[in-house]
Amino acid sequence: MLRTFTTAITASLVLAAGTMAQPAFETTDLGDGVYMIANDRAGNVGLIDAGDNLIMIDTQMPPFLDDLEAAVREASGGGAPTLVINTHFHGDHVLGNAHFAALGAAILAHRNVAERLANPVHNELTGSTPDTLGEDYLPNIEVGQAMMLTGFGVTGEVLHFPNAHTDGDIIVNLPGSNIIHMGDLLFSGRYPFIDLDAGGSVEGFIAALDEIIGFSDDETRFIAGHGPLSTRDDIIASRDMLIEGRARVAALVEEGHDLAAIQEQNPLADFHDAWNWGFITTERMVWTFYRDITGLTE
Ligand SMILES: [Zn+2]
Repeated sequence: MLRTFTTAITASLVLAAGTMAQPAFETTDLGDGVYMIANDRAGNVGLIDAGDNLIMIDTQMPPFLDDLEAAVREASGGGAPTLVINTHFHGDHVLGNAHFAALGAAILAHRNVAERLANPVHNELTGSTPDTLGEDYLPNIEVGQAMMLTGFGVTGEVLHFPNAHTDGDIIVNLPGSNIIHMGDLLFSGRYPFIDLDAGGSVEGFIAALDEIIGFSDDETRFIAGHGPLSTRDDIIASRDMLIEGRARVAALVEEGHDLAAIQEQNPLADFHDAWNWGFITTERMVWTFYRDITGLTE
């Protein structure tokens, strides 16, 4: 059954890619050599053209890689990336690593991402293992808390936020251009996925957004992991929804309700129209809050 399921998913992705209007990727020129490359099928890609260095933020996944490479070359006047930055370990952000490593890119990620990719637990998100992909997709530059990008010709930095979307999230902050690539710390206008099984937490996610809100401004442009180019107001809205939603579910847990009773009360009902989407439904968001608050795994 699992095999059939996986095949069906792959087939539907290929079909989606094959039937999408051309071009498969939409490239947005943000100025200063910075681009957002997106197809809304996997994680949004950032590109920084810094002359001798071409930095690519996240690498998506098959079957999009030839089209993604074409979009990168078109934006950069024919170049290939010299550095790939992975915002975290999920497959829809890293499974193109080997494709771009083969073009000569080094791969930078938080040390927890390197650890997870080297020792993958097979699930529907990571999808593949080094046995099936080879080892060329593994990071060869590991970051702890932060790293300046000046060595790559860029005024900017990568910053790690612990236990947020996962345990290995980094954002790319470009203060000179006032642009931030958020990785999956931003699902713009959608409930975020918070991967509790990979070290993510609701409080860590809120803390990360708080800190980013603190050092950005109304002019900052945010490349979301998923969703459109965004503003600080979108970050604030996501943060406020998480704070309020978690408080509502916590109050019901405090009153002694179990998950079924809480779902029955639908505490996020008024959030549904604005935030619900296919992967993270309102019901799944309630379940995420409940698990985060209680520590239960079911
Ligand atoms: Zn993710």
